[in-house]
Amino acid sequence: MERLRPDVIIGIDLGTTNSCAAVALPDGQVRIIPQRNGDAIVPSIFAIDDKGNELVGHEAKRQWQLNPRNTLYATKRLIGRSPRDEVVDSVQRSAAFRIEDGGGEVALACQGRRFRVHEVSARILAKIRDVASDFLGFRAGRAVVTVPAYFNDRQRQAVKAAGRLIGLEVVRIINEPTAAALAYGVGKSLRERVLIFDLGGGTFDVSIIEIRDRVFEVKATGGDIFLGGLDFDEVLVQRVLQAFQAEHGLDLSQDPVAMQRIRDLAERTKIDLSSRTEVPFSIPFITMTDDGRPLSLDLRLSRRELEELTAPLVRRALLRVERVMEDAGLAPGDIDEVMLVGGQTRMPVIQRALAERFGRPPSKGVHPDEAVAVGAALYGWSLQEDSDLRLQLLDVIPMAIGLEAAGGRMRVVLPRNAPIPNAKALPATNSVDGQQALSVRIFQGDDPLAERNDLLGEFTFDGVRPCPAGQVRLRMLFEVNVEGILTVSASDRDTGRQMRTTVRVTES
Ligand code: AMP
Repeated sequence: MERLRPDVIIGIDLGTTNSCAAVALPDGQVRIIPQRNGDAIVPSIFAIDDKGNELVGHEAKRQWQLNPRNTLYATKRLIGRSPRDEVVDSVQRSAAFRIEDGGGEVALACQGRRFRVHEVSARILAKIRDVASDFLGFRAGRAVVTVPAYFNDRQRQAVKAAGRLIGLEVVRIINEPTAAALAYGVGKSLRERVLIFDLGGGTFDVSIIEIRDRVFEVKATGGDIFLGGLDFDEVLVQRVLQAFQAEHGLDLSQDPVAMQRIRDLAERTKIDLSSRTEVPFSIPFITMTDDGRPLSLDLRLSRRELEELTAPLVRRALLRVERVMEDAGLAPGDIDEVMLVGGQTRMPVIQRALAERFGRPPSKGVHPDEAVAVGAALYGWSLQEDSDLRLQLLDVIPMAIGLEAAGGRMRVVLPRNAPIPNAKALPATNSVDGQQALSVRIFQGDDPLAERNDLLGEFTFDGVRPCPAGQVRLRMLFEVNVEGILTVSASDRDTGRQMRTTVRVTES
């Protein structure tokens, strides 16, 4: 095994469909880390084959068509979620693997075994670290890992937990658009306001970031962690299923191997339609009729049709852009550059729509697939003791954090786009005579009803002095650190008793 270098911090872009890592060399130059075959991308896929071998990345992707039930992909969409969450159902509808309730946590079935989502992320992180060790000749002990800006506290905690499982210290979580802005702006002495439009495989983020040389200040952020290239693929899959049903009266959606072949080709077709206007969609012998006659899929798809079918997805992204501009109090003329990040932004209609809205084409200033990992590596380098790069990141929370109040309302403690780090104190008291414990449920989201937001956790402050209602004087403190991770503490102002908790996901 390679020698461990705990001082070195690599940058990891842990994506929904693809992951990638980068590192700053001793002279501060950042390199994307290639695998032995030269490829920089590690597909974010984990599988177990019939012999019980665990496979990650390209190896897992290669056997995906033949083993769809035991191939876990896009699991980042499930990280930090509760099994009761409605998004879990929607993922299950399009996934061939089984999602189960693992005692209040999402569990994934794979070859008769069960994995928690952050255990899968841990395996992908381990693979990336191995690739990095191969390249560097030593094992890096620390990493900066990026997450979608629109990730909530639980999801951030889960990524940290994944690192801990494999002994990789995640020294800092930073937001993907912020990382892309670092890749664009470090070392250029800029004074610019950029809008980062980051549409990757599974998530969409938009952030407006002001760059003042080495200061990167996020003015507003927004997004949708259920909008990404996978959704564009799914629209094509549905179109193809309908066409097959109309022609042959057969439903292929219950056949996992056929579905996997369609899904693969749908993605490739979508990508081809970014550079061509029409392409065939053909899969020989996709199924058999009851009397044993083989049937094939044979269609042609045009870019125009793809654009029509996916127009609602593009509209959703553009609406988010409008909201973020409104939150920042800015008009298109106030934005100096629009940067594209994430593979799905190669779709021409997206570039056209942004060019129309901002009156000029988006910038090609960063590599859409590599910018996030490069930014993470730059930030990692700035945290290393031996570097002279100093960066200041001023980020925000993407969604409000608050408490469940009377009538189930969300009582906002920190509003969305509040700068981080941040802290806010709230007075609290006992509502019933003699009450000995005070429980609050903490949520994150922008809905006025607490239940419709994400439950971050429940905080119980026990040992309250028995008093008549309204007489106990408690002070609750909400602190969000630079990574967007929340700690809640409470103290009894009369007795001085203190309690604190980091709202965390379960860990092994
Ligand atoms: P990322 O997570 O940034 O690697 O983005 C991956 C997503 O980008 C996947 O859904 C890909 O299908 C999609 N993608 C990659 N290249 C293209 C392209 N040329 N046109 C449209 N989508 C693309």
